[in-house]
Amino acid sequence: MRIEPDVEGILDKALGGAEITRRQALRLMQIDENSLDMYALASAANTLTRRRFGGKGEVFAQVGINLSPCPKSCGFCAFGEKWGVMNSRAEFTLDEVVKRAKAFEDAGANAIFLMTTADYPYQRFIEIGEAVRAALAPNMPLVANIGDFGPEQAEELLDAGFQGVYHVFRLREGKDTEIDTKARLGTLEAVRDSDLDLGYCVEPIGPEHTPEELVEEMFRGREYGAVNHAAMWRVPVPGLPLSRLGQISQWTLAKVVAVTRLVVGDTIRAMGVHEARILPLRTGANQIYAETGPNPRDTMEDTSKGIGASVETCRRLLREAGYTPLEGVTQVFKGRTR
Ligand code: SF4
Repeated sequence: MRIEPDVEGILDKALGGAEITRRQALRLMQIDENSLDMYALASAANTLTRRRFGGKGEVFAQVGINLSPCPKSCGFCAFGEKWGVMNSRAEFTLDEVVKRAKAFEDAGANAIFLMTTADYPYQRFIEIGEAVRAALAPNMPLVANIGDFGPEQAEELLDAGFQGVYHVFRLREGKDTEIDTKARLGTLEAVRDSDLDLGYCVEPIGPEHTPEELVEEMFRGREYGAVNHAAMWRVPVPGLPLSRLGQISQWTLAKVVAVTRLVVGDTIRAMGVHEARILPLRTGANQIYAETGPNPRDTMEDTSKGIGASVETCRRLLREAGYTPLEGVTQVFKGRTR
């Protein structure tokens, strides 16, 4: 059996530490998933990750703060007002958010993420962030996953004790979402121009997305200086408009993870996959998420009773994939301490 020579050349280039081009990333996306080339791609991405991160895997843990019908009505989100999937409203008290974040830390999470819907009051989020910061170990990275904001808010997040932000230009942003694409890009610029570290992701991937669209987001994350890149599949929650298009396989997700890993090279400090599955953890991903509270991919009010994994489950999965779970805090999000 032989690998296609052009594919072999691209993989050798990436393994040698050189950047690959968009055209080369597209060539990799065109690989037949059942071919020897696919296994060579998987092996190259796996080698890059195990070499760069010393066989260590990481668990980031996210607390969803509120559940409310969101006016942005993204076609893949259970919170979308138009879809009527989640009609109730719920919000954790400040004490509850602090308690859950602390429980994640005590369970061995390597970073804590706080998430709200896009329309959540910004100052309220800052108050919660400050309270969580005070409860966590001073060196535990805190990451915000919220709606769009500008340079002033980026500084406020840093002042409140955040080290990073998860922010993404989603696939077909502005078409499958009602979000202003300029605002989305403006937030990415504000993060890039601040001391906040960026977590990015190619998401939410469905069967209809073209290799060109996926490669575009791989490079966008790189260009905005993401320190944590990832790929995430779309969960077809019943009742959402995009759910009728179905779901990609775990192996297709693994392929997007692998190509993304080669695109970002050693510019990243961890490579994520969502949701956590073994196959992508063998094709370049070494970081997964534990979750609690509301989750836009779940119909349970508290995702820890639904599809959300615990820190313990994530650490077990990392071990099953051949990683040693990182003890202590991540070095991915450093904020002003870098
Ligand atoms: S993904 Fe975010 S912005 Fe879109 S509907 Fe859901 S909560 Fe709102």
